[in-house]
Order: sequence, then C-alpha cells, then structure tokens
Amino acid sequence: MFDLLVVGAGLSGLQAALSAQQAGLTVAVIEARDRVGGKIWSVPLASGRGYADLGGAWINKSLQKRVGAYVDKFGLKTVVQRLEGKAVMQQAPGERFEFPFGVTPSDFSPEEKKSLEMVRDHIQAESLKPGPPRLEDDNVSLDQYVRDLGALPGTIKMVNIWAQVMHGLDSTEYSAAWFIDYCRKNRGLLAIRADDASGGQHLRFRDGAQSLATNIAALVGAPNIHLSSPVTSITDHGSYTSITTTTGQTFTGRKTIISIPSTMYKELNIQPPLPPRLQAITNATTLGDYNKAIVCYDRPWWREHGFNGYFASYVGPVILARDTSVDEVGNYCLTCFVNGKPGRGWGRLRAHERRAAVLAQLAQIFGHEEEVYKPIEFFDQIWQAERYSRGALAPITALGHLVEYVDVYGRAVGNLHFVGTEYSPEWKGYMEGAICSGEVGAGEVVQALKGRERANL
Ligand SMILES: Cc1cc2nc3c(=O)[nH]c(=O)nc-3n(C[C@H](O)[C@H](O)[C@H](O)COP(=O)(O)OP(=O)(O)OC[C@H]3O[C@@H](n4cnc5c(N)ncnc54)[C@H](O)[C@@H]3O)c2cc1C
Repeated sequence: MFDLLVVGAGLSGLQAALSAQQAGLTVAVIEARDRVGGKIWSVPLASGRGYADLGGAWINKSLQKRVGAYVDKFGLKTVVQRLEGKAVMQQAPGERFEFPFGVTPSDFSPEEKKSLEMVRDHIQAESLKPGPPRLEDDNVSLDQYVRDLGALPGTIKMVNIWAQVMHGLDSTEYSAAWFIDYCRKNRGLLAIRADDASGGQHLRFRDGAQSLATNIAALVGAPNIHLSSPVTSITDHGSYTSITTTTGQTFTGRKTIISIPSTMYKELNIQPPLPPRLQAITNATTLGDYNKAIVCYDRPWWREHGFNGYFASYVGPVILARDTSVDEVGNYCLTCFVNGKPGRGWGRLRAHERRAAVLAQLAQIFGHEEEVYKPIEFFDQIWQAERYSRGALAPITALGHLVEYVDVYGRAVGNLHFVGTEYSPEWKGYMEGAICSGEVGAGEVVQALKGRERANL
C-alpha cells in the first residue's frame, strides 16, 4: 500500500506528489492521459521551429515565485512578451480602429472612456481589499454588477471581453463576487490584464510550457506515474483508500488526493458518496469555453505594418489575440483566444470552417490578405472537447455558491483531499496556483498522517 495516491498528473497533482515524496511519503500518481501536464500542452511545430502552447503559456517569474523558482532550477528559457506596435479594436463587423498598445483606446468617446476607467478602477480597488467575497456580489452576475455601477454600453461590452478572455464565460454567466475574488487572489485586475513586467502575461517558455510539467514529473520519477490509466472509482474504506482504473488496475493508499477539476468529480464513482453540500457546489461548477487558434507564419508580417499582433473584438469568433512568436527559433505566430459564447459556436464547427473563420477575421483586423491567408501551420484546441478537461480555465461556482458553500469547497472528506488551481489562495486559475494548491494539499496529507501515527502509538 502506498502512503498517498494522486489522481491526475497536471501541475497540481505532480506538485502534490513531489511535496509528499519530499516529506518521506510513498506516492503513486494515476493519470488518464498518455502525457503529464493536463491543461498545459505544448505540441511541436511541423517546421521544427519550436512549439505551440495549446493550453497555459504565460508566466511572470517575479510575481509567481514557485514557477519562477522552477524556471531557474530547470534552466528553462523564457521569452519576453513583445509589446511594440499598434493594437486594433474591432467594434462591429467591418468597423475597427487602431490605437497605441497599453492605453484606453483613443477612439472611445470621452464619456465611454470615463465609464470604462470608472469600472476598471472600482474593480481594481475592490480586488485589492482583503476579505471574503460578499453574498450580495455573489448573487448578481458580473454584467448586472457593472450595469448597477452605471457603466455605459461600451464598458459593458469591454467587461464581457475581460470575462471571456479571463474565464471563458460571458459576464452574464457568473457572479461578480467570483470575478472580484479571482482578481483579489491574483494581485488585482490590473496585474491580471497586464502584458508587461507588472502582470501575468510577461513571459513565455521558449520550449513550451509543458516543459515545466515534464521536469517536475522527472523529479517525481517515471515509475511513480501511471499514464493512460483513467480513474473510474475511488473508495474511502476508513483506514485506507482504493482506486480502480478503466484499465483494470487497483491501487491502495492511506490517503488519496484528487487533482481533477471539481466539475468532473461527479464522473468518478466516489464511495461513500461525497457529502451532499460538497456535491451541491461541485455538481454546479462550470468550465468555460476557453479555446485557442494558433496561426503560424514564415515571418512576422504584421510587425512590418506597425502592428504588435494584439487585438480585441466585440464581434468574434476571436475575442483577443497576441503575438506569441519565438524569434530566436523563427517561430512567428499569432495566438487567438476564441472564448465565451463566440467560442462555443466556433467550437462546434468543422476544422476547415474554424480555420476559415479565424483567417477571415485576421484579414478584417489587419488587412494584408496576401499575408494572412498564407499561414505555414494552423493549430486549434477546443478544451471543452477534451474528455479529461471538459473546458477551461478553471471551474467557476454557480451564482451564490462561492459564499454559501465556503465551508466545504476544497475541504478534505475523510481520507480524500482535493487540490487544483481552483482552490489556490494565490494565482488561482494559473500554473502558479496549481503548484501552490499541490503544495497545500500535500501539507494537509502529511499533517493528517503524522496525527494518525501518533494516534496509533
Ligand atoms: C487555453 C488555456 C490557456 C491558459 N493560459 C494560461 C496562462 O497563460 N498562464 C497560466 O499560468 N495558466 C494558464 N492556463 C491555466 C493553467 O493551464 C491551469 O491553471 C493549470 O494547468 C491547471 O492545473 P491543474 O493541475 O489544476 O489541473 P489540470 O491541468 O486540469 O490537471 C488535471 C489532471 O487530471 C487528469 N484527469 C482528469 N480526469 C481523470 C481521471 N478520471 N483519471 C485520472 N486522471 C484524470 C487530467 O488528464 C489532468 O492531467 C491556461 C489554460 C488553458 C486551457
């Protein structure tokens, strides 16, 4: 029997396993996919020019201490997000304007600018206030919350883009408290939105973000990680736990850490069933439509025309895009987020239709069709369609639930412990948050087992 079983080899599960091993526990990690990394997945370009990050990509070494320490420890190379050049805003089909990157778009009317800055400053101030989420904010959608602040129509649409790009849902679909709490755990709205050294989109991995997971997995040790082993049932027998997989294996461990998104707990046969209040919250968490289309070119033609590759759109299907080139290896690409409701429709299209829709929008944004329509590679990734993710970024609680179920959400039940980026007290939703949560979960298990040994003596 192992001391600890860990379900899932995403960053939170891998870190939980590593921290537990470092505390002297024996561990088996059981992963459904044939790879580690979960929602970080880097696929090689056919051209041999590096990788496309289909999941998590951006980090900030100084604001995200754990990721920063791993980057140094493993000697991983990073690339600074390129900011120089004009950004583009698409307001309606056939209507777009250019503006200097990093400022409130100059084509907004003075009233709209004032309204946007008022809402931005309000949410920033709220997200810097310590304290738990408020019930009144949890019972109202983010959309209604900003309407109640007196936001003008352009601001309401911009807040919707923030919601789509940050969480893959529209602002009508989840609570203001969840949005504000997310900002609060992640150093405020401005740090989340910033693409420079003050924010979450400052750096990327030259050789793909998944290298973070593969390096942590190497520390855990390949023999301790069982890939291609989807967990089908988990039983807490009181004095130990057991896990069965679809491949017919059974594992036993004194404790089990479950690191899959809470939205998917209901897909496991957990015995005895989780307490009703824990089921009530986790059965109702939602994963967003958080998709990427990565369009690779032979050269960064948009820069030659003064663009930095960033654009935002009220029209879709792409709601926001950035230049994610790695110049050093000749990897020139635009990463397009196709999220929220526009992404939901796009995700149902056939592959050739998805590609056509993205390229047509790039042509509307940048012009220069002769360049746009000559990508050398095109990737797209629909996380909702992934059997072992069912969406992204991280599970979002239903209206009112964040406050109502705070006493059970993420709390251990018997010998079962829960980790995942959704539970992190810092950088929730991010790679850093996943690692942080893994550490916390392993700490809980180590403490609980110590207590048990003492009790047995
Ligand atoms: C498109 C996209 C963009 C993102 N951008 C960023 C970014 O720029 N910066 C950033 O920091 N973060 C980003 N993220 C978020 C980041 O990737 C996640 O926060 C983090 O990887 C989550 O780790 P986790 O361990 O909590 O969950 P997961 O990665 O989901 O890990 C869960 C693991 O459990 C496994 N599993 C599921 N079901 C079973 C089962 N039945 N049996 C066994 N195993 C199972 C899964 O295969 C998976 O490996 C992005 C995510 C996506 C999808």
